[in-house]
Amino acid sequence: MYRICVFCGSSMGNKPVYREAAAEVAGFFIKNNLGLVYGGASVGLMKILADKLLENGNEVIGIMPQLLIDKEVAHEGLEKMIVVNSMSERKQKMVELSDAFIALPGGFGTLDELSEVMIFNQLRICDKPLGILNTAGYFDKLLTFFHHAVDEGFVRQEHVKNLIVADNIETLVRKMQQYSPVSMGKWIEDILDESVNS
Ligand code: AMP
Repeated sequence: MYRICVFCGSSMGNKPVYREAAAEVAGFFIKNNLGLVYGGASVGLMKILADKLLENGNEVIGIMPQLLIDKEVAHEGLEKMIVVNSMSERKQKMVELSDAFIALPGGFGTLDELSEVMIFNQLRICDKPLGILNTAGYFDKLLTFFHHAVDEGFVRQEHVKNLIVADNIETLVRKMQQYSPVSMGKWIEDILDESVNS
């Protein structure tokens, strides 16, 4: 079973379009018989996605640190809930169990998970496609910031290109299937040169 890990809000967002996007993603998973790996919660956009997939009988794996279970946000309908000791261990497990990643609109938790996979791909610790579902332009300002970081010489252009962005799930996954990671050798050489020559 091909499993996609989805990072998304523990909140619903304040426009209906975000809930609709989560429901559309669920529909795509159902149509293509995909497994879901996610944070394991019964709140926010995560709940919309997990509920629809569970209802349909798709595989759903939640990964949650004990501290969040203690706060009673765990989804009680999950057959597969992996309990971990820390947020770091959770992200590691997400990476281990998933074939690809998609970030939907969310807050700091979503950004944390998104950055983890961005760095893992940059360092070739993993080579799995990472897509950003840019619903209603939610991530526009973040993407603008990434280009600013390139202009200012802190991020390499090719690493921004590693990110796959689309505003609908069908296009996003189609682009993710063509993902080819950037080789590490060249940019490591470049940053070594830059430091020696400064
Ligand atoms: P946020 O984007 O800040 O709402 O956080 C959502 C992301 O972080 C999800 O993908 C989860 O894996 C994780 N997360 C944050 N808060 C929670 C929560 N209350 N329950 C479960 N997971 C959470």
